[in-house]
Amino acid sequence: MTAPGLEILLTEEEIESTVARLAAELSTRFTDGVVLAGLLRGSVPFLSDLVRAITIRPLIDFIAITPYAPNTGRVRMLKDLDIDIVGRDVVIVEDIVDTGLTTAFIHGELSRRSPRRVCVCTFVDRPARRVVPVELDHVGIEIPDRFVIGYGLDHEGRYRNLRVLASAAPEVLAEDPDAYVGALYPA
Ligand code: 5GP
Repeated sequence: MTAPGLEILLTEEEIESTVARLAAELSTRFTDGVVLAGLLRGSVPFLSDLVRAITIRPLIDFIAITPYAPNTGRVRMLKDLDIDIVGRDVVIVEDIVDTGLTTAFIHGELSRRSPRRVCVCTFVDRPARRVVPVELDHVGIEIPDRFVIGYGLDHEGRYRNLRVLASAAPEVLAEDPDAYVGALYPA
């Protein structure tokens, strides 16, 4: 691979085995059933693989929030769960936990609705830039302080459907958002 700053962190096979491990963890833990609450849009490939690897029968729902305003740290819900979670076990399913602000906000919102328990399952954990402490119950991979793309994670809408997780150079993407297309989508 010749693109500057690009490094494959997880291959397709490694993603598959990571998802299998997480699915086994959830299947063992939530034998009474669970609501998987996926955070749009980055968690979609992960959630889709996870639900098919799981051996229990989960309910699936989605949440969308606005991106954080840089200075205020405020967000609001754009799409709420449709499922009533009173008395249920809920797992927030995320692509990546970075600052922890998104997770903390959603965890707070859902916890107010009298669920039995709210847990977090994230495919990627990047603790280096954490602003709010959050408890992560199920983690696919912990990565160093690098920007990542693929397996749901985008840059300006690109790269979400890659079957690998790659770290990329933000300065290269800032110059040309398509910089890695040639290397990652071989013709
Ligand atoms: P938070 O900072 O609230 O933990 O993460 C918010 C969101 O920022 C994540 O759900 C994800 O969509 C996005 N994000 C954080 N770090 C990265 C990254 O390295 N790459 C990409 N593509 N998105 C990220």
